[in-house]
Amino acid sequence: MIPFHEALAISQKFALPRDTVQVDLFQALGRTLAEDIFSDISMPPFNKSAMDGYACRKSDLKNRLQIIEEIPAGSVPLKKICENQCARIMTGAMVPDGADFVIMKEDIEEVNQDSVQCTKETSKDNICYKGEDVKNGDLVLKNGDVILPAHIAILASVGCSHPRVYQIPTVAVISTGNELVEPTVIPGISKIRNSNGYQLIAQVQQLGIKPDYLGIVRDDENSLLEILSRALDKYDVTIISGGVSVGDFDFVPKILNELHVNIKIHGMDVRPGKHQLFGEEASHFIFGMPGNPVSSFVQFEVLVKPFLNALMGKTAEHASISLPLEEDYIRKKGDLMIFVPVSLTTQSTILPLEYHGSAHIHSYVNAWGIMEIPKGISILKKGENVRVRPL
Ligand code: AMP
Ligand code: MG
Repeated sequence: MIPFHEALAISQKFALPRDTVQVDLFQALGRTLAEDIFSDISMPPFNKSAMDGYACRKSDLKNRLQIIEEIPAGSVPLKKICENQCARIMTGAMVPDGADFVIMKEDIEEVNQDSVQCTKETSKDNICYKGEDVKNGDLVLKNGDVILPAHIAILASVGCSHPRVYQIPTVAVISTGNELVEPTVIPGISKIRNSNGYQLIAQVQQLGIKPDYLGIVRDDENSLLEILSRALDKYDVTIISGGVSVGDFDFVPKILNELHVNIKIHGMDVRPGKHQLFGEEASHFIFGMPGNPVSSFVQFEVLVKPFLNALMGKTAEHASISLPLEEDYIRKKGDLMIFVPVSLTTQSTILPLEYHGSAHIHSYVNAWGIMEIPKGISILKKGENVRVRPL
């Protein structure tokens, strides 16, 4: 038994991003940049009008101004603005030479067809200056940045149509247990439906990975040997639920030993997820999840998710946050670190949900996050801060 945080540090040491690949912008959302991105232009690329209005000299603001040109966005001004002149200008258009001010359309009065008069005292010039946001050659995005919609906009504006990103790992999901039947089947006496397999697939999919489901395997050494050797060979990461604890039919650790997998974690000082397993064989990885649905769910969130994210170059995504408790929290024993489902109140406080134990997956339907109570702590007072990982 090792403390959970030690186990997390062990598995994370193996989670090094591997290959990189170039993808087009339509495929880039949610991926992690594997290169620094520099701008090949200044932004804005020219002094740009921020408003529809009239470009003129600031020193002429009190005077009647003669309109000498109209400048739509995308056009180059042809004339220089001289004393008491202006150009009708549109948002996004180039400010003409000679002008150092754009009067908003709303702030002028048309004197006649060819001239306008500013009606408001204003000092805001309504010009976005060349390079004020980004200068040519500036670092705009960094290796390791997770690409979100605003990042896509930056990539597009600096002409990076095929950013280099970290490769997505291949993942297999397996369920084991003689009692399991698929959701389409009405369970016979002593059988239950396989919920973990589908839960794990969904959790993997949430990370932007498309896992393969390899089905239900019986608690049978030969079947397990066959499927695990195939999965370890083919996939970067294999996730199997069930068969990792200390029952007579929990064969997974034994089979992994036969397959020469180096078992790095088997047993953690935490509930749920005490019998969690992690192993490695030639840079192929296996997570053995405890069969109880909450154990499997929680250990995926706190251990497997950071691992898969780190394989894709995402390092900051498993961070927990500190929030105050809505009410006192008391538990009978403080012998283990525990994870508890919680909701978030409208006052941004944390409220533990009713939770009956590791088979009670229904408690997570309404969970906003997973609260972490350290070993040795059995009473926490209302208002005290606790660590929570949002789901
Ligand atoms: P195990 O880890 O195999 O000892 O299983 C622990 C508990 O989790 C048992 O009550 C199993 O019936 C249940 N369980 C195991 N696998 C699954 C699964 N795929 N879906 C739902 N429950 C499961
Ligand atoms: Mg079992």
